[in-house]
Amino acid sequence: MEAREAALRQAYSHALRWLASLPERPVPARASVDEIVRALGVALPDGPSPPADVVDLLATACEPGLTAFPGSRFYGFVVGGTEPAALAADWLVSAWDQNCVMRAVTPAYTAAEEIAGAWLLDLLGLPGDSSVGFTTGATMANFTCLCAARDAVLRGAGWNVAHDGLVGGPPVRVLAGESRHMAIDLALRYLGLGRPELVAADDQGRMRPEALRNALPAGGQVPTLVVLQAGDIHSGAFDPFGECVRAAREAGAWVHVDGAFGLWAAASPRYDRLTAGCADADSWATDAHKTLNVPYDCGLAIVRDGSALRAAMGQRGDYLIQHEHGDPIDKVPELSRRGRAFTVWAALRSLGRSGVAGLVERLCRHASAFASGIAAIEGATILNDVAFTQVCAGFGDDERTDRVLARLLDDGTAWISGSTWHGRRVMRISVSNWSTTDEDVSRTLDAIRRAAADA
Ligand SMILES: *Cc1c(COP(=O)(O)O)cnc(C)c1O
Repeated sequence: MEAREAALRQAYSHALRWLASLPERPVPARASVDEIVRALGVALPDGPSPPADVVDLLATACEPGLTAFPGSRFYGFVVGGTEPAALAADWLVSAWDQNCVMRAVTPAYTAAEEIAGAWLLDLLGLPGDSSVGFTTGATMANFTCLCAARDAVLRGAGWNVAHDGLVGGPPVRVLAGESRHMAIDLALRYLGLGRPELVAADDQGRMRPEALRNALPAGGQVPTLVVLQAGDIHSGAFDPFGECVRAAREAGAWVHVDGAFGLWAAASPRYDRLTAGCADADSWATDAHKTLNVPYDCGLAIVRDGSALRAAMGQRGDYLIQHEHGDPIDKVPELSRRGRAFTVWAALRSLGRSGVAGLVERLCRHASAFASGIAAIEGATILNDVAFTQVCAGFGDDERTDRVLARLLDDGTAWISGSTWHGRRVMRISVSNWSTTDEDVSRTLDAIRRAAADA
């Protein structure tokens, strides 16, 4: 007992020290993998050590190799930080150690999952009777939704994939935008559906509705999935849902939306026009660990027809205690898993409706400030229409853009990744952290100006 308490106190003080270091520490990690391996030590100990000492060694050895992901000047990839209530709730999730599979065994978890699920549907403007599954991330959320979709369209064609598999069944067409996220291709690979047929997109990555219409059959004979996107990782652009969903529905297709970070636009009255028409789709994947800023790992698989999700994901075991109305187990691929919905509940309870809207609006405001600040730098160009949280900039030729990125990383004030977009190197900024302030944006712009001046 004492050993456990000592270990928790050790973890608590290291956690507070880490969080307190975020505002001023260099954002990139300062130590290499080899250095951390040496600090941790490679020899497996012959015997036990006191838990508090182990935690102390872990925290002390790892600290220089940590990247300030949760800090307010990390703008790489699409990475959220952690809202305070969600972080604290996550500690409880570990302490409670609930295996969140069965309603009858984990009433507390099931209650939190149901409330959080209903709040999410409300905030995201999605049909209130949809099923919400809590996955590890948006990759698995896309997989989960597309699995329900695949099975449902095949069922509609008289084929029971759960019973008979895919071999010998009708072909399934999958249409996705040229600018889809690679997680879609991975999900389709897992699902045995191969590569999607690509539908042309405009320069911001938005699917062209007329191209989708041309690609769809006139009748509804071929089982078809159409994958749309809310939030392009380069431009932040949203597919024109109204027209695309209508075209897909007229052709009898199942419409799925990958909205890993963008679906949250719906929670803001100022940005919900971006997702207009999106709620008419059949399924939606999003992340809570991006825009909502809960800890890893937490994605959301939302399916309008809960019975389709249950048919795809449900499992039965004689040794389980299963409820006739369904269990958390029926909505996601895993059996044993941690209580992810607790942190989502905590973030939403802490922010409230206006807090979630304010969070989205703040991220967008910072993205606009980055765009205008960078546009004013000699030789820099903003390459996307900054409609949401993503900014792509070029600094003349590819070599110079890469030099600016390298200098910026050396400087350590902020972490911004490069990418290749429309055949050219770009600086890619994703504003996703709840704690980013106006001051962080100006400090980062100063660092970008310094990097560009030297490059
Ligand atoms: C991040 C992202 C994904 C993958 O989500 P993970 O949570 O990393 O699994 C899928 N689609 C889009 C658009 C994304 O931004």
